[in-house]
Amino acid sequence: MAEIRVERLHKTFGDFVAVRQSDFVVDDGDFFVMLGPSGCGKTTTLRMIAGLELPTSGRIMLGGKDVTNQRARERDIAFVFQLFALYPHMNVRNNMAFPLKAMGMPRKQIRERVEETAKLLRIDHILDSSVSGLAGGDRQRVALGRAIVRRPDCFLMDEPLGTLDTEFRDLMVNELRDLHDRIHATTVYVTHDQLEAMSMADKIAVMNHGIIEQFGTPDEIYQHPATMYVADFIGSPPMNFVHFESGLPPGGARISLDGNAVELPRLIHSADYGKKALGVRPENVLIDDSSGLRGAIYGSEYLGTNQVLTIETSHGMLKARVPSHQQFSLGDNVGLGFMTETLSVFDADTGRALATERTPPTLRDHYHG
Ligand code: ATP
Repeated sequence: MAEIRVERLHKTFGDFVAVRQSDFVVDDGDFFVMLGPSGCGKTTTLRMIAGLELPTSGRIMLGGKDVTNQRARERDIAFVFQLFALYPHMNVRNNMAFPLKAMGMPRKQIRERVEETAKLLRIDHILDSSVSGLAGGDRQRVALGRAIVRRPDCFLMDEPLGTLDTEFRDLMVNELRDLHDRIHATTVYVTHDQLEAMSMADKIAVMNHGIIEQFGTPDEIYQHPATMYVADFIGSPPMNFVHFESGLPPGGARISLDGNAVELPRLIHSADYGKKALGVRPENVLIDDSSGLRGAIYGSEYLGTNQVLTIETSHGMLKARVPSHQQFSLGDNVGLGFMTETLSVFDADTGRALATERTPPTLRDHYHG
């Protein structure tokens, strides 16, 4: 097992910058997810860690060793691709044994290793079946088996669940995390799916146009987004933004919306005048009829245990997640409140979060004051 350290990693294709000065550390045994939309540089970063692509500049350390210029086969890494090609003419056992045979491992040891790995993945009952007749989930488990049977220092996975239907996908998300908790191999996992990222990762890097916008735990990224991009990308529906021109006094604690005072978390550094945005997650918008901040119900989406209301206000459309038993009709005029202790404040020009008293001290350095 090994720590992966990426320093000032940069990759250009001609004039195009695919990965810009990335810095992050994946701790030994962590499950790390690179999350972002198509084309943001996730796969390019992964391919550089694997040794399949040379960086334009920067350094990659694996277990404390500089591997930047090492070939892929010299790195103790297993790569699981989305469409992992299994050998269709071989059974499950021989597919899984293949990498060990290529390493020249003795037959008895191969047999033991394959059977142990198959048990771990709960595919020991299909070891002698042909892979061509297997269902999608089992094929993917065999593919994983073939990757982990070598017991490499790290796993790199590029959208490995991308081709599975929803039912198998949910199952595999749980199985992958469960497997990780049992073998603790350092894992880098690439996906554009925030639910996969949030449910599996120890740490997430949210990427945008080759830049890591935020690196942190799922909770930090959800509760304390470092930028408006992250706040918007994570969460369904995403965070609401209420724009205002400040005026915030040093340590500023309240603003006025429609003549209604809205308490803000206190800023750590004084904020100068300028365009700001208040960030509030839909579950932290309260229906409060005593409030002077008002809006009209524009739409509602029933989700069983709760419902998501779309409310038209003079500050734009806001989404509120409220219990489903509360009854509303389209056009109802409602008062709105925000839970102060959950609010984020952003500089609307740069999109970066301002450090407030609710920003954990460990994150404050990453926020602009
Ligand atoms: P996806 O999920 O669509 O693969 P991604 O976040 O993994 O997205 P990358 O595959 O890393 O993105 O690609 C980042 C950008 O670099 C894209 O705009 C892509 O077109 C470009 N790119 C990647 N490889 C090359 C290449 N060999 N030559 C030129 N451009 C490339």
